[in-house]
Parts: sequence; structure tokens; C-alpha cells
Amino acid sequence: MRFHKAESAFFVFVTLVFGAGALLAYAYLILHNGAQMLPPREQLGLYTQLLFVIGVLLATAIIFGVFFIYPLIRTQVREEGKLRAMTESLSARSESLQHAALTDSLTGTQNRRFFDDALREYLHEFGRIEKPVGLMVLDLDHFKQVNDTHGHDVGDKVLREVARGLKDLTRYHDVVARMGGEEFAIVAPNMSQEALVKLAERIRKAVSSLVIDTGNVRIRVTISVGLSVWNGRESSEELFRRADKMLYEAKRLGRNRVCA
Ligand code: GH3
Ligand code: MG
Ligand code: MG
Repeated sequence: MRFHKAESAFFVFVTLVFGAGALLAYAYLILHNGAQMLPPREQLGLYTQLLFVIGVLLATAIIFGVFFIYPLIRTQVREEGKLRAMTESLSARSESLQHAALTDSLTGTQNRRFFDDALREYLHEFGRIEKPVGLMVLDLDHFKQVNDTHGHDVGDKVLREVARGLKDLTRYHDVVARMGGEEFAIVAPNMSQEALVKLAERIRKAVSSLVIDTGNVRIRVTISVGLSVWNGRESSEELFRRADKMLYEAKRLGRNRVCA
């Protein structure tokens, strides 16, 4: 078994103090039992010698404690503090990495990876309590034209503002995600089909009335929305496919509309 430096130092310290204590007990015994027979001069000499040795032992223990054990403890405390700070910063970093892995960096909404897990989980949880789960797939209309006419940076700004609009119009527990390009999806649990259609209409109108100011031009965009409500049996992929079909239908019928 190997001892840490501080542990060994502590054992030395205890031995010194213990030695001093034992010596004190020994001094007490001989002074009270046999030493009375000695002449007073020798009695005093013995007494002084014992006191001196005890003093030396105690002084050594104190010096040892102050100059060896205490600095060791200080160093250890400092090292532990550094280690704790390092652990904290590491866990903060891993949290922010985790956040980054699930967030779309352009718009700040959730990303597809988060969406896939969330949809599956919502179906599971809301299925257990037999509550509806609604899904919207939203795609900006003729977005390529925005990019081609005004440039990619302006296109990015449009995406950010539309995403903010989606966040503003949804509830805290709705999931708003960018699925890629100019396509978004929203999971809205515990909402009837009628309520979901109303929400989708509100979103569609809000997007069409957004005016995106780019300095020299003001841009307006529209969005098409496909809707589906979970039937309680289908998988998340099947639910998504149905909403996507409805989106395709909305595009086919002329865009800037909601199809359910
Ligand atoms: P539709 O109404 O049929 O949806 O037409 P659309 O032009 O919106 O669809 P299309 O799929 O032809 O074009 C999508 C465009 O979205 C193409 C691409 O330039 C643009 N886009 C995809 N991702 C980004 C992005 O991150 N930033 C910007 N600025 N543009 C993007
Ligand atoms: Mg599009
Ligand atoms: Mg698209």
C-alpha cells in the first residue's frame, strides 16, 4: 500500500505528538514513584531533561505541521480548485456542444435530428394519454427566386425572419425545426385538426405579411403548408409522409395555402 505525501506527513506528526504524550506519562510515573528517593538536585535534573525532550518533540511536531503539512494541504486545495474549475468548464462545453448538435445554426430553431427524436417521443407520450399530435410541413414558395434576385445573404435573412415568426406563433411545447433548405416542420401536440388548421392559417398569413427590409429592397415571401394529424397507429415516418404529400398538394394548387 502506498501513502500519499500528505498522509505520510500526517503519520509523522501523529507519531511525534504521541511520543511527546507517552514521554509525559512516563515522566509523571517516575517522578511520582521513584524519583522522590533521589536527592533534590538530581530530581530537578531529571525533571528538566524530560521536560526538554518533551518540548523538543512538541516543537518538532509544530514546525513539521506548519512548514510541511500545511503547505501540502494548501497545494492540494489549490489543485482541487483548479480541477473543479476544469471539470465545470468541460461540462459547460459539452452542454453547449450538445445544444449545437440539436440546433440549426442559421435560424436558431431545432434541427432535423432533434425533430426526428422529438416527433417519435411525442407520439409515444401523447399516444399513451390518447391525445392528438399534429404535424405541419412548411416550405417557402419560389425561394430560389429570392436567392437568385437578391443574393444568398438576403435569402438567409428571410429564413431567419420566417423562423422567428414561426417561433412567435407557436406554443412553448411545440417543436419548430428547420428540416433543411427552406423547409420547416412544426409538431403541435394536443390540438384538434380544426385548431391545427387555424394555427397553420395564422402562420401562413403572418409569413405573407412579413416585410423583410434588406436596406435597399423590401421583400415579401409566402409559404405553403401541409398538415396531418396522427391517427394513433402510424409511425412518425408515415405521419411525416402524409403531411409532405399535403404540402405537395398545396404547391400544386398554386402555393401560399394550407392543405390538410
Ligand atoms: P417551391 O415554391 O416549389 O418550393 O420553389 P423553391 O424555389 O422554393 O424551391 P427549390 O427547391 O427550387 O429551391 C429551394 C432554394 O432554397 C434553392 C436554394 O438556393 C435555397 N436554399 C436552400 N438552403 C438555403 C440556405 O441555407 N440559404 C439560402 N439563402 N438559400 C437556401
Ligand atoms: Mg420552396
Ligand atoms: Mg423545398
